[in-house]
Amino acid sequence: MLAHTIEEVREKRQEWKGLKIGLVPTMGALHEGHLSLIKKAKEVCDKVVVSVFVNPIQFGPSEDYDKYPRTLDKDYELCTKEGVDLVFAPSPSCMYPEGNGKLSNDTLTYVCPPFFYVNKLCGKTRVGHFDGVCTVVLKLFNIVQPDLGFFGQKDAQQVIIIKKMVRDLNVPVKIVQCPIVREESGLALSSRNKYLSEEGKKEALVLSRILNNIKACYNKGITDVAALKETAYGFLTDKHDMEYLEILDRNTLEEKSKADKDSIVLIACRVEGVRLIDNIYLGEG
Ligand code: AMP
Repeated sequence: MLAHTIEEVREKRQEWKGLKIGLVPTMGALHEGHLSLIKKAKEVCDKVVVSVFVNPIQFGPSEDYDKYPRTLDKDYELCTKEGVDLVFAPSPSCMYPEGNGKLSNDTLTYVCPPFFYVNKLCGKTRVGHFDGVCTVVLKLFNIVQPDLGFFGQKDAQQVIIIKKMVRDLNVPVKIVQCPIVREESGLALSSRNKYLSEEGKKEALVLSRILNNIKACYNKGITDVAALKETAYGFLTDKHDMEYLEILDRNTLEEKSKADKDSIVLIACRVEGVRLIDNIYLGEG
């Protein structure tokens, strides 16, 4: 079933009282990465809801909100194939009615995650991004009232912040984190890969190569974070515009001077002007 309004979702939710509900929040343009979350949700829940919503308030003014791929018919077809019980595809004005699709001056309450978690990695260049993400996720949790919410490790900073949000605000939703799905080449699947040319997709392999190489160096016994980061430069050419490469604690995002089994390596790099992110755990997943 496809729902565009909150009322329709609430009605379904009422029908499903007592069942275990899973929510997979997405911005659509679904690929195998999203489908892996849906499959996991199908495995452990009685009913699965997928939201498809390109959330305007998590995009900065110079970002790709307008050109972000929107393929609802195809997404709905894929969801139906996977046995999804409800696809919730609201309009911006359904989610933000007071501001006609945006936050308005009258919006009193939104989620503003702590500076420590947002003043680094993606939050450094995408100012306000995680306010937008947390606000929409909390709204979706309140609308769908799932027992479990499914998120990808692909957006590692996002899932860490969302875990803290549900803990801090006593939101009764268990966050399930799912591994990164990649193409055979190693490229992490992303809706934004659609913007890349064939050549660009090859250049984009630099992200996973840098990550894998750092992990290989770590496995050989190099733990000095500065030395590990240094190894990236051998891979970069003028086709790659690196935004960040960090090795942090995978639970707290704290900086370390020595990498260990709890470290995560995170990278953001532009290829053909497309901003791509990826990450890898140095210890066991
Ligand atoms: P998005 O539509 O990009 O907002 O992503 C929706 C959800 O899918 C997020 O929890 C992402 O982390 C997850 N996701 C996106 N790409 C992948 C991937 N390649 N592997 C696993 N999960 C992913």
